[in-house]
Amino acid sequence: MSSLIYNIKHIAGILGIKNFEVQKDAIISKLVIDSRSVIDPDGSLFFALKGQRDGHGFLKDAYANGIRNFVISEAKYTRLFPDANILLVQDVLLALHTIAKYNRNQYDLKVLGITGSNGKTIVKEWLYQLLAADHNIVRSPKSFNSQIGVPLSVWEITAIHTLGIFEAGISKTDEMDALASMIKPNVGILTNVGEAHAEGFVSLKEKLLEKLKLFNDADLFIYAPEYTAGLSTDDLPGKTKFSWSKKQQADLQILFVEPIDGKNYIRADFKGIEIECLIPFSDQASVENGIICWATLLALGYTPEEADKRLEKLTRVSMRLELKNGINQCSVIDDSYSADISSLAIALDFLNLQNQHPKKTLILSDIYETGKTNRVLYTEIAALLKQKHVDRLIGIGTHISESASLFDMEASFYESTQAFIDNFPALHFNNETILVKGARRFEFERISKLIAQKVHDTVMEIDLNALAGNLQFYRSKLLPGVKVMAMVKAFSYGSGSFEIANLLQYHKVDYLAVAYTDEGISLRKAGITLPIMVMSPEPSAFDAIIRYNLEPEIYNIEILQGFIGFLKTDQYPIHLKIDTGMHRLGFEEPDLSDLLKVLTETRKVKVASVFSHLVGSEDGLHDEFTRHQIERFTAMTELISETLHYPFIRHISNTSGISRHPETQLEMVRLGIGLYGFDAALKNNTALQTVAILKTTITQIKHLKPNETVGYGRKGLLPKGGTIATVKIGYADGYSRAFGNGTGRMLIKGKLVPTVGVICMDMCMLDVTGLDVKTGDEVIVFNNELSIAQLATQIGTIPYEILTNVSQRVKRVYFYE
Ligand SMILES: *Cc1c(COP(=O)(O)O)cnc(C)c1O
Repeated sequence: MSSLIYNIKHIAGILGIKNFEVQKDAIISKLVIDSRSVIDPDGSLFFALKGQRDGHGFLKDAYANGIRNFVISEAKYTRLFPDANILLVQDVLLALHTIAKYNRNQYDLKVLGITGSNGKTIVKEWLYQLLAADHNIVRSPKSFNSQIGVPLSVWEITAIHTLGIFEAGISKTDEMDALASMIKPNVGILTNVGEAHAEGFVSLKEKLLEKLKLFNDADLFIYAPEYTAGLSTDDLPGKTKFSWSKKQQADLQILFVEPIDGKNYIRADFKGIEIECLIPFSDQASVENGIICWATLLALGYTPEEADKRLEKLTRVSMRLELKNGINQCSVIDDSYSADISSLAIALDFLNLQNQHPKKTLILSDIYETGKTNRVLYTEIAALLKQKHVDRLIGIGTHISESASLFDMEASFYESTQAFIDNFPALHFNNETILVKGARRFEFERISKLIAQKVHDTVMEIDLNALAGNLQFYRSKLLPGVKVMAMVKAFSYGSGSFEIANLLQYHKVDYLAVAYTDEGISLRKAGITLPIMVMSPEPSAFDAIIRYNLEPEIYNIEILQGFIGFLKTDQYPIHLKIDTGMHRLGFEEPDLSDLLKVLTETRKVKVASVFSHLVGSEDGLHDEFTRHQIERFTAMTELISETLHYPFIRHISNTSGISRHPETQLEMVRLGIGLYGFDAALKNNTALQTVAILKTTITQIKHLKPNETVGYGRKGLLPKGGTIATVKIGYADGYSRAFGNGTGRMLIKGKLVPTVGVICMDMCMLDVTGLDVKTGDEVIVFNNELSIAQLATQIGTIPYEILTNVSQRVKRVYFYE
């Protein structure tokens, strides 16, 4: 069977569009939902989906990026581009599903479908590792398991594939039928069913039944009865079933799990015989995911010996790109575990949005299982690298080396990872952003180790997707046309400098704001081109402000006159701060006449914006004062406007202002803490995502006898004795002394453990009595479970302080997927 080729007319036919006239012949190879990520513009079909932002708003961007094929649902856009093919449908998402379903139905390959609350992506990736020797596998990229992710995954099926592995995730009732009709699994695998996402469902049983709809037509169903409790056997899908359990009789009944040397040895009863396997991981979640894979191999007919042999070689799945500091002033984007075209495109997008170094380098291995000839594949990749502004390519592997002539850029090639490593000293990496992307068998982690700086035991992980999600959340609350100034002062509330600004620039916020000139200069040096407002422009730095094209906040006449004195050009943008009740900085009403006099007498400056700050936008108690502030602000900006005779931006709203006082949006809002996942006005809201996770590890364990004490001043007393874990985080890292003596808690293996004794400068001690812990175990200081908000409450402060206190010596690692 050869793969289908879809020309645009064929697609129109699949969508049931009558009288479609082709404007431009096109063969569609890619379905695209983001106007920015375009690999092959000629072969792309853009879907204007209506999500948090309406995709119709991005049609022009997509067109500018070369796309000429569109699926839309708003008739008024039908004639937008005369030379493009525009397919008008009722429902764009449904059209995406229809095309995916059609493609699926052309091939009768075997398909494994995976659903459950946790572990779907790991199980999918591990089954891929376990089965790749016997099949040409097509699988969901990353965790593409939603109403949008599934069709994009299923579209990738071609004639060369002999096995598909797809995951499906749902968040409310009636979502699974659509996913099931696209995936059509022959084998169903249920990972587990927890309380997660229970909001969209009436009950756990309803959620479970909805999930199981994926497997209605499956031949084989693999599950643990613990997760289907409450259902009768008749409710379970699958012509045949294969069960596994740690607790009850099952086809694969786990007898015991024993940790040895960071691995887990497992024995089980399988058809009356005792069998064994070794899962090469120590954590509970990996053991469970490993058992699910074991059950799947056995259910598919692999012998216990073969299954054991393969499971032992499982490797950790890293689905996220990691941005770290590298050697010789480089930044390293580490994606050393996978190489396929769609994940390469995502990684290149991330590379492309880095501005901090003049040069962008890609280290890429051979790519397998694409179903394309090397010539076609590497021609496509070469075009992609051009489009994403890669300056230098280092290709590793025989295939990419043979295709060297296709790459028209600085490039070097090595037959193997070892050959690269042998030549490493001669490569002179310096001041560049390096993306390391390789298929698993190339072991590119050896390369990352050479070029990335080692991250210490205590790290703050920053989830850039969560940050982008939070930005999107607040944008969805804005009236049309309202601009966003993102507050990146104080190292972006502790989370980073250019790393955050690059992302915000990519997502097209309108302004950035920093507290000090230095912060603005760092951003400019890292290639940030957005307008940047400096809130405390020290007169000694006026020169630098102008040199780096930063825009000062002006809060009194002296600053204004001083700044004007420095200017050699006209119309320099400034921002006027008005005091409407904070009584911190800013012009008050009586100051206005002097201010306006200066402004009308000079051409040197131009008021870009006028702003004020709300003192209690998060609290209903202050609503009346908030209204009063807005009235004052409106009155004062009107006065300014009458004199200046030109338009300027007005802004007064901070994070909680956006969520609680939509009428305060004016022309722009200043979004701060909300970006980083907090909003005092949205206490029980789950819409905001956790951005920062602070973690460390256990350095040493001590066993104490009754009445021995811990730490300085003998403050930590254990009357009955117990076990103490010392962790490498102290007040110099930002873990306040106020957390001492049991006030603070950390999470180890999901259990909360209290501090003992006082917090030291670089360390503190935890009471881990009764817990099975050892040196090197991970310790969570804060994450989504143990939130910064909880920590703040414990010591009587606010999340802002907890976040910004995390000191610069704690290394930041940025994740992107
Ligand atoms: C920090 C700051 C903000 C942002 O406030 P959030 O509550 O973090 O959204 C807005 N405006 C000014 C002037 C600020 O200093």
